[in-house]
Amino acid sequence: LGSDVGADAGVEIADDEEDNLLGGLQLDTSADISVPDRLVDQVIGQDHARDIILKAAKQRRHVMMIGSPGTGKSMLAKAMSQLLPREELQDILVYHNPDDGNEPKVRTVPAGKGEQIVDAHKEEAQKRNQMRSFLMWIIIAVIFGYTLLILQNPVMGIIAAALVYIAFKYTSRGSDAMIPNLLINNADQQTAPFEDATGAHAGALLGDVRHDPFQSGGMETPSHDRVEAGAIHKANKGVLFVDEINTLDIRSQQKLMTAIQEGKFSITGQSERSSGAMVQTEPVPCDFVMVAAGNLDAMENMHPALRSRIKGYGYEVYMDDTIEDTPEMRRKLARFIAQEVEKDGRLPAFTREAMQEVILEAQRRAGRKDHLTLELRNLGGLVRVAGDIARAEDKEFTDRAEVLEAKDRSRSIEQQLADNYIERRNDYDMTVNQGDVVGRVNGLAVMGDDSGIVMPVMAEVAPSQGPGEVIATGKLQEIAQESVQNVSAIIKKFSDEDISNKDIHIQFVQAHEGVEGDSASVTVATAVISALENIPIEQNVAMTGSLSVRGDVLPVGGVTHKIEAAAKTGVDTVIIPKANEQDVMIEDEFKDQVEIVPVSHISEVLEVALAGEPEKDSLVDRLRSITGKALESGETQ
Ligand code: ADP
Repeated sequence: LGSDVGADAGVEIADDEEDNLLGGLQLDTSADISVPDRLVDQVIGQDHARDIILKAAKQRRHVMMIGSPGTGKSMLAKAMSQLLPREELQDILVYHNPDDGNEPKVRTVPAGKGEQIVDAHKEEAQKRNQMRSFLMWIIIAVIFGYTLLILQNPVMGIIAAALVYIAFKYTSRGSDAMIPNLLINNADQQTAPFEDATGAHAGALLGDVRHDPFQSGGMETPSHDRVEAGAIHKANKGVLFVDEINTLDIRSQQKLMTAIQEGKFSITGQSERSSGAMVQTEPVPCDFVMVAAGNLDAMENMHPALRSRIKGYGYEVYMDDTIEDTPEMRRKLARFIAQEVEKDGRLPAFTREAMQEVILEAQRRAGRKDHLTLELRNLGGLVRVAGDIARAEDKEFTDRAEVLEAKDRSRSIEQQLADNYIERRNDYDMTVNQGDVVGRVNGLAVMGDDSGIVMPVMAEVAPSQGPGEVIATGKLQEIAQESVQNVSAIIKKFSDEDISNKDIHIQFVQAHEGVEGDSASVTVATAVISALENIPIEQNVAMTGSLSVRGDVLPVGGVTHKIEAAAKTGVDTVIIPKANEQDVMIEDEFKDQVEIVPVSHISEVLEVALAGEPEKDSLVDRLRSITGKALESGETQ
């Protein structure tokens, strides 16, 4: 067993139970799992990224992380800041420059010193002020008395005193200007700083100088006091994290690059018409390690020079979406649940059965045989919703029932939409799930990432005036054409019908926005063959699959969600590509409702889907023999 599995510490593991859902963990609730202290040890999976972060922290290198959202990029960046030495932290002060008020001076001192310096300055200023007011009141009293005595005119006395007061107020301003602005204060910082500059505008990223509405006349704030640090300065000696790096505007990316190169960056007012734009400080230290992140297309839109800067002086790493399902990983996932519960602080601990249900969900969400999902932000969401439900009901523990309810509640918008849609169609009796119809096939499609939908396809073949055309409604025209093209090679061989002089109409019934149709080619082909040969199709069958020119059924995405959608619609047989057989991870409730038929050739599809015995048998036989020949002669593709 891996010694770095925090969950294993002090917890018994039964060898003979290695294959159970918790990877053999012998415990009653998630409260029995100890959570490691260091953030870097809390990271699940992503071993490669984790190694790089450990290495990069030691060498102070930049890192670029590419991968799906919620896989731990910002978590790793934060973990890196905990690994950097705290001793190097600095405070940064900005001083008034007596030679040029618009060019404040910058001074760097060890962490903790900054506060002392400012305090000393304040104390001194206070003393000076006290001395001044004391003197002032004496003078006022003297003048007042003198005027009363000599001139016997109280009004003149008061005017004289006011004049003296204003004169003093004006001159005493000089002492405020002496107090430096503590731009960066690391006195209480326990680890090197971690600054998240994702989506930051220029001022927040690079620093800013506030506008001063009273630019003169004794009311103005001295310019050094209006200087504000940017994320790059706050990240000095620590980590600057920028997610979605490509969304940062090009000018900011350029300036970021300069900052990385120089290790320091002057602060100036970012809005051009503000009085802050006249101010520019001496260079302010910004010696940070950069962790840039994004998804794959982030790299395309990223400033190439910035990317090569990171690449040349650091590492690039790709984040995994899934990981192999092993007992060790399951134990780590159990620890993940404990981590999320602890992080939230208010959720009741999870029971064994609840943790098992979450791990089952991790298998399902991986969408890949023998893998677990690593999109853990979402899985953490499930943990929190389940825990919240248990908490709302004052339960001592979060149990399996709450996890199941949470799964239902935390459905994506697409899933809710798809369910709503199925319900509505069932209400209006628009679903056809029994009997047989010529030219109509229950196809299956996915919406979003995680929801399936039944999408019926209808085909009609009619003689054409000119050369035959494929006419399809809606956005799926291209897919329809491609599918018909693929199937036409096959049809030509077994059928007397010449489809080159026929119009083939294809209708995707109620196809709507967001439906992906690339997996509809088996459906389209089946509908066309049915229409052409006038053989009806069983409506209790739904299907998905991609078709090659030689009639092979190729794998598609989202089979689990598609099968579940078919089951919800009342269909009882689902045809899927054989190559997808291992991806099926449907919920238990659906297992008894549908029969899943894996196929690898269009003839098998027709065998299952066509009704009417004699015609069907002859057609399937013809298809088999013909495509068999096509295979031998290799005249396809
Ligand atoms: P990203 O930056 O990749 O979008 P985050 O690092 O912000 O993702 O992840 C969000 C949350 O999800 C984390 O705070 C943590 O709770 C959980 N999480 C994500 N990935 C992992 C992981 N690999 N190990 C442990 N927890 C994770």
